[in-house]
Amino acid sequence: MVKKRPYANYLTTSFPLTAVTTLVPHVSQLAYCCTCFPIHLENHAKRDTILLLIIRDRGGKMDDLVEIKGNMHMHTPYSDGEKWHAEIATEAIAAGLDFIIVTDHNVWVDGVEGYYENEHGRVLVLCGEEVHHVRREPQASHLLIYGAERELSPCAANPQELINAAQACGGYTFLAHPHEKDCRLLPYPNLAWHDWQIEGYTGLELWNYMSSFVCRLADVLNRLPVQNALLDKLTAVRVALNPEKYITFPEPETLALWDELLAQGKQISVVGNSDAHGTPFNLGPLHRVIYPYEYLFRAVNTHLMLTTPLTGDLEPDKQAILRAIGRGHGWVAYDLPHPTKGFRFTGHGMSKGRMGDRVQMDAGATLQVITPTRANIRLIRHGEIVASIENESNLTHIPTQPGAYRVECTIPYLGKERGWIYSNPIYLW
Ligand SMILES: [Zn+2]
Ligand SMILES: [Zn+2]
Repeated sequence: MVKKRPYANYLTTSFPLTAVTTLVPHVSQLAYCCTCFPIHLENHAKRDTILLLIIRDRGGKMDDLVEIKGNMHMHTPYSDGEKWHAEIATEAIAAGLDFIIVTDHNVWVDGVEGYYENEHGRVLVLCGEEVHHVRREPQASHLLIYGAERELSPCAANPQELINAAQACGGYTFLAHPHEKDCRLLPYPNLAWHDWQIEGYTGLELWNYMSSFVCRLADVLNRLPVQNALLDKLTAVRVALNPEKYITFPEPETLALWDELLAQGKQISVVGNSDAHGTPFNLGPLHRVIYPYEYLFRAVNTHLMLTTPLTGDLEPDKQAILRAIGRGHGWVAYDLPHPTKGFRFTGHGMSKGRMGDRVQMDAGATLQVITPTRANIRLIRHGEIVASIENESNLTHIPTQPGAYRVECTIPYLGKERGWIYSNPIYLW
């Protein structure tokens, strides 16, 4: 029986570790080096296990981080949602969320923030805003604003001014559902982002569950052999009642845009949200809320990595959450097929970092991915896959170039491959 920890200790105590990692620019050479040591590689189950031991012994303290889960796009009767803040909080607690940010259309609701508790737990409720220009034709370009702490809808007519105003107040701005398809059953064109002459925004809403539903419904309707009002409605019911079957990935255009912006050297964070409204759906005798808040809070969420646990006090917890959102310290998660809790993506070079951090490379810098269950894992730099592994729960890579590295994981669910985890990048320099 081989003891793995003593091997790592041996390595650290007998060799200057920085020298070892400088000599070892990639895994195969590491394996070769290991055979030079009086410990044989075949004593170890896997080469990457050895690499993990080295990472651990390089002083990685990333285990100290605290993971929280939230949803940051939803509506109340202040705009076009069905339930009030306290009712939504109850559903968020039932779904196991740590925080939610309510984003009513063109109204920043003051005075409702705080911890909401019941016998099952507590959730921190924060308020942001989803702003758009109500006289724009067609209606489009919705901007999510977090942390500005004031009403910004008067700036809606000019998206750049809106972004600048939010930033001036310390707020973070994300383009909501930036790519969406026209759906012929809806009485309005798509609500994608249309005003692209902008800069300085924080990031993209990479995955919006309700917008994904609209896009997939549009796809299914467009594939029908004939166009017929009754057939369209029946198809809509079928898709609406089985969203898990149809919702698979974020929009590819949004992923491509994100990669393009990262390749330009921009720091662009992403979030994943529900866009919950709790709207009842009526078709003949069928009357039900097809997507209750609680259901959506178990689907596409954003997980964050904080440096300290939440305290239970509104102000410090709010600031910690907003900072993590703005800097991209987390990932977009489709928690429905399998919980993403426990996912980790860390960088170890001259400095160490989590998602959203800038990490200085050295010759032995490594990127490490751990998933809570086996998945297909891809490490992507500026749109190109630099490392991948199938049906595994960890991936370790020694990068050779600086840049923005992000992780995508997919898993099979209900007979189809599904987007599961989309990490914010680690920026190597
Ligand atoms: Zn919207
Ligand atoms: Zn919305």
